[in-house]
This record gives sequence, C-alpha cells and structure tokens, in this order.
Amino acid sequence: MTDVSVKLSRRGLERWRAGHPWIYESDVEAPKSLKGGEVVRVTDHKGYLLGQAFYSRASKISLRWLAWDDVPIDEAWFAARIAAADALRQRLFPGDDTYRLIHGEADGIPGLVVDRYGDALSAQFLVPATEQRKELIASLLEQHFKAKAIVNRSDVGVRKLEGLESFKGVMRGELKGPKVYLEGHVRLSADLLQGQKTGTFLDQRENHVLASQYAAGEALDCFSYVGGFALQLALKASKVTAVEISDAACAQLKENAAANGLSNIETVSANAFDFLRDAVDEGRKFDTIVLDPPSFAKNKGAIEAATRGYKEINLRALQLLKPGGHLISCSCTYHVDEEGFEAMLDSAAADAKRRVQIVEKRGAARDHPVLLGLRETRYLKCFVLRAL
Ligand code: SAH
Repeated sequence: MTDVSVKLSRRGLERWRAGHPWIYESDVEAPKSLKGGEVVRVTDHKGYLLGQAFYSRASKISLRWLAWDDVPIDEAWFAARIAAADALRQRLFPGDDTYRLIHGEADGIPGLVVDRYGDALSAQFLVPATEQRKELIASLLEQHFKAKAIVNRSDVGVRKLEGLESFKGVMRGELKGPKVYLEGHVRLSADLLQGQKTGTFLDQRENHVLASQYAAGEALDCFSYVGGFALQLALKASKVTAVEISDAACAQLKENAAANGLSNIETVSANAFDFLRDAVDEGRKFDTIVLDPPSFAKNKGAIEAATRGYKEINLRALQLLKPGGHLISCSCTYHVDEEGFEAMLDSAAADAKRRVQIVEKRGAARDHPVLLGLRETRYLKCFVLRAL
C-alpha cells in the first residue's frame, strides 16, 4: 500500500462518508511533493485511514475513490477490476464481443474508458493515474482478451483539465481496417482511429435496436452520424430521411445502408435546425422521428442555451409528428438532467399544442452503468414519446 497520505477537510470528510467518489481540491490537504497520478491514503484530520484514491494535481477533482481499505492497488487489483467488468458484459450480452468494457468510476477504475470491438480494444486514459499506468493496463487487456490491437483514443478535451495532452494512436498490435459489429440485425463498422469517441457511439446501441420496434411509415432521423438510428428505422419504415451536417458521416451512412441492402434511406447533408424549420413550413408529416443531437452544453453556464436548443428541435419534431406517431428524443448533455429534459419536453408539447405520452424513459446501454452517487455517469436521456 502507498505511504503518501492526504487529509480531508470537514466538508471533504462528509462527502467521502456520504459515498461521493470525487473529492474536490478545496476539500483536500495534499503534500506539495505530490505530482499527480499517485495512489494516496485518504485520512481524516487525525490521520485515521478512510481509504485510497487516485490523486490529480492539476485537476479541480483531486481525489477519485479506489477502495475503503488498505488493499494494494497493484497489477492483481487492476486485473480483478477488468475481470469483474467483463463478467457483467458477458452476462448482459452472451457471445457478443462488442461493448463498453470499462466505464470509468462506474466499473471501479476512475479515469479509464475501454471499449471492446471484437479482437481490438479502444481505450481512453483520462487522468494522470491511468495515463501513468497505461502500459500495465494495456498488458492486462491484451492478456485477458487475446487482443490483436489496442488503440489509445486519449484525444479528448477533458484531459486538458488534468494537465494532459491529447493523444491518438495504436499502442499495441496492429489495427487492420474498421471493425464490423452487429446492432440487432444491422451490420455497422467502426473506425477506431478516425471515428467519434473510441470509434463510435456504443452508448446508443440498445436504443438503436429499440427504435426499429417503433418505426413505421415515413421516418426522420436527425443528427444521424453514420446511421445508427436511421438503419434501424429503415428495417420497418417505408422511407427514412437522415439529416446530418457532416459530409463524411453522410458518406459513411450511405455505405452502411448499402452494406445492409437498405435502399429506402435518403441522406440529407444539412443543418437539422434548418431542416426541421423548413419541413414545418412545408407542412410535412412523419410517423417516426428520432432526435439525437450532440451535447449542447459543455458546462453549467450553458444549460439555458442548451435547453432552448433542445426545445426548438423537439417543438418542431412534435409539429411534424402524425397522430399516433413516435418521437425518440435523446440528450447526451449531463448538465441538463432528466427532470430538466422532461420539463423541456413538457413545454415543447404545450407550445406545439400536442398531447404526448411518455412510453419509455431510457438511458445509455447497460454496458454503460450508472454509479449511484455519481450523477455525472447518468448523462444520456432517451425518451420514447407518442403523440395522441
Ligand atoms: N445519432 C447518432 C449519433 C449522433 S452524434 C448515433 O446514434 O450514432 C451527433 C451528430 O450530429 C454528429 O454526427 C454531428 O456531425 C451531427 N451534427 C452536429 N450538429 C448538427 C446540426 N446542426 N445538424 C445536423 N447534424 C449535426
């Protein structure tokens, strides 16, 4: 066990005892010698041991919970966390080999995200402690999964808050082209080096598949990316219009549609805000609509503007929806919580003069578990609504 100790203030102690996995800078007294990335003993002001945590020097989040006791945080500890995380996925998706394997704090390893795409893994090292242990973690992953390639996708903005540079590259083995995987009956592929996040958005996987259950008639998918929702809608709808601003994503969507033999998708390269406004003006109607925009708020200060953005697209979508039609409305902005999102939908329905049923309230796929006590892990909202 580590012999470096940090002391908690009274408020820090209350947060720790209440089970909060993060302790902020202002609640921690840390020796000047600490550089960040260490495993530290966490104590109260008398030196009584409360547990262990990863320490970050540059970040506002100084401590990230690891253990309540003095177990060694060594190779065996990391191997056990990886095995426990994988056991959940094997139970959830027997036989499947594409899933989020490590969802940071929610899987007991703060600052580490690992997605598995068959025999290739894609990782994000988000704090100094995981950055400094990345070779150890890569070796354990390589052994556990007999992985042929491990990609390091640490090209994410949050690393800056931790004093870390952005980095992207293959760290083990050799990556041979995009990785193909299934979402229900739809075949998709992820480019682990060029795709968004670790290659694609695995958090919407179960919601994608669900969307096909609601699809009918004329369908509209806004903010399509490479077609995770659009392709599912196309299995059941007569026609799908997919609206996406990025030409590269539109091109990939078309390739994905062709690879699945789906010829009923029209890809529109446009700003979804403009598309929705024009469609309302033209009096168009749809039976099924999906809204899955990028995050509209990166911080608390932007909540109001984000909510206005959500309201605008949801209001328009409700105006476009035929009676009995379904709207699948998502938000990945964690600063807008479920209550805030529901209140926004309420107000959009009132303005659209529609009566709307909530059929399902969903979140990210089950391989992205939410950690009780850490609301930051509950970021994705996915409401299935039905207009009367
Ligand atoms: N629905 C996708 C993920 C969407 S990510 C899925 O389930 O896989 C958000 C997408 O919105 C990105 O591909 C981004 O290029 C696109 N986007 C961002 N702003 C947009 C806008 N104003 N209009 C249309 N698309 C936009």
